[in-house]
Amino acid sequence: MTNKVIIVGAGPCGLLLAHYLLNRSTQYQINIYERRSDPRLVSLDNSRTIPYGLSERGLKALRKIDGLEAAIKAESVKNKGVIVHKENGKTLFLSKRTPTFNTNRTRLVITLLETLTKNYESNQVKINFGCKCTQVDFAAKTLGFEKVREASVEEDREKVNVNYDLLIGTDGAHSVVRKHFLTTESFDFEQKHVRSGYKTVFIPGSNEKAGIDLQRDCLHVWRPYNGIAFGAVPQLDGTFIGLLFFEPDDGNVAGISSKEDAIAFFHKYIPEVGQLISESEAEAFLKRPPSPQLKIRCNRYHYGDSVLIMGDAAHAISSSLGQGCNVAFEDVMLLDSLLDEYSEKWEDALAQFTIKRQPDAYALSELDNNVFPSSKALFTEFILRENFARVMNKLLPNIFKPSLRDLIADSTIPFADILKSYQSWISRVKDSNDRLIRKKHVKIN
Ligand SMILES: Cc1cc2nc3c(=O)[nH]c(=O)nc-3n(C[C@H](O)[C@H](O)[C@H](O)COP(=O)(O)OP(=O)(O)OC[C@H]3O[C@@H](n4cnc5c(N)ncnc54)[C@H](O)[C@@H]3O)c2cc1C
Repeated sequence: MTNKVIIVGAGPCGLLLAHYLLNRSTQYQINIYERRSDPRLVSLDNSRTIPYGLSERGLKALRKIDGLEAAIKAESVKNKGVIVHKENGKTLFLSKRTPTFNTNRTRLVITLLETLTKNYESNQVKINFGCKCTQVDFAAKTLGFEKVREASVEEDREKVNVNYDLLIGTDGAHSVVRKHFLTTESFDFEQKHVRSGYKTVFIPGSNEKAGIDLQRDCLHVWRPYNGIAFGAVPQLDGTFIGLLFFEPDDGNVAGISSKEDAIAFFHKYIPEVGQLISESEAEAFLKRPPSPQLKIRCNRYHYGDSVLIMGDAAHAISSSLGQGCNVAFEDVMLLDSLLDEYSEKWEDALAQFTIKRQPDAYALSELDNNVFPSSKALFTEFILRENFARVMNKLLPNIFKPSLRDLIADSTIPFADILKSYQSWISRVKDSNDRLIRKKHVKIN
C-alpha cells in the first residue's frame, strides 16, 4: 500500500485530490508543496485573482466530499445565462440549462484549504507553502524544493530534499513534474501559446448616475470587433471581474499608455465598462501585464507505479470554454473510480488513467480551439444554431441533440463523444479561424 504521497501544487486540482485520497483511506500521509504563500494569510487583494465558473463536471466531483459542494456554492453567484451586449446597445440573452456557479480562484482555493484542514489532522496532511519544486528524480523517488518565502537571494534560499512513494504533479501548465517526463521514454508533449492574451479589470456592477446596472446573475459578454472580447463575471460581493482578451498585434490595446487612454478605450468599445471603471482601476489595469495562456497536450500522464500528472499540468486549455478547473476536478474523480476498480493497486490505476483520460483531453483541446468562431458573422450563426438546438432539443429530445454549449458545460458526457457529434461545425470553425489568421499574417507581412 502506498503511504507517503507528495502533491506538488496546492491549486484547485491538488487540493481536491488531497480531499479524495484522505476520504479513501487513513493510510495516506499527504504532503502538499506549494510555491506561493498561504492565501489565507495574504490580505484578500482580489486584483490578483481570476474569475471561475463551476459547472456540472466540477460540481459532480465536489459532491463526493461531504459538505464541499455546499461550501463552494456559498462562495459563488448562481449564474443563469449569458448576456451578449451588441454594438447597437441591444442585448441578447442566452439562457443556461443548468446554472453555473461563479466565484474566483482565491475564494475557491481558500474554501478547499479550510475544509481540508478542518476535516483532517496535520499528521495526515501537511501543506508546505512557499516551497518551490526545483528538482525531480523519478528513479530515486526524490524531489528538491527551495523555500522561497523569506529569502530573495537565490544562494540564501533554503533547500529541502524529500522522498516519496507516490508523486502527483498538479503544478499547473508550467509543471516541473511534467518536465521530468521528457527524460522518460516515448513521452510526446505539445505546448502552444493561445493567440489572445488577457488582462483582468475589476468593476462595480452599477453606476446609478450613468444608468448602468449589470444583471448580477449573468455573465456579460462584448465582442466589439474581430479579435477582441470582454467578459464580466459576477462575484458574491456584487462586483464583477472583467477579462479583456486581445491579440498581441491589436493596435487599440497596444496604444493604451495612460489611464485616460484606458478609460477612452472602454468608452469607445465596451461603453458600459467605460462607465463603470474607476480612475484607480484604470491605472491598475494599465500596470497589469497581459497574461499569456498556454495549452498543453501529452500522450502520457503517468510514469510506472509512482508518478502522475493531473489538471493543467497534464492538459491545460484556454479559458474560452471555462472548463479547465472543472476538468481538473473530473480528473480527481476519475482517479478515485480507478482506485476503486483496481482495488487500490496504483500501478494499474495510473496506467488506466492515461488510457481513459487521453482521448477526452485531446478532444477537449480541439473543442477549445474551435467552438467559438473568431469571425463575427460566423459567431452570429453560432448563436442562432445554439438557440435553435436548445429549443428543438427541449421539444423533441429523441431527435435533436442538445446544443454544443449545453453538452460542454451542463453535461458530464465525455468530450470525445461531444466532439464526434459536433465534428462538422468544429471543422467549419477551424477553417474559418485559420483563414482569418492567414489573412492577418498576409497583412502584417
Ligand atoms: C482567465 C482564466 C479564466 C478561467 N476560467 C475558468 C472557468 O471559468 N472555469 C474553469 O473550470 N476553469 C477556468 N480556467 C482554467 C483554470 O484556471 C485552470 O484550469 C485550473 O486552475 C487548473 O487547476 P490546477 O490545480 O490543475 O492548476 P493551477 O490552478 O495552475 O494550480 C497549480 C498550482 O501549482 C503551483 N505550482 C506551480 N509550480 C510549482 C512548483 N514548481 N512548486 C510548487 N508549486 C508549484 C502554483 O502556484 C499553483 O498554485 C480559467 C483560466 C484562466 C486563465
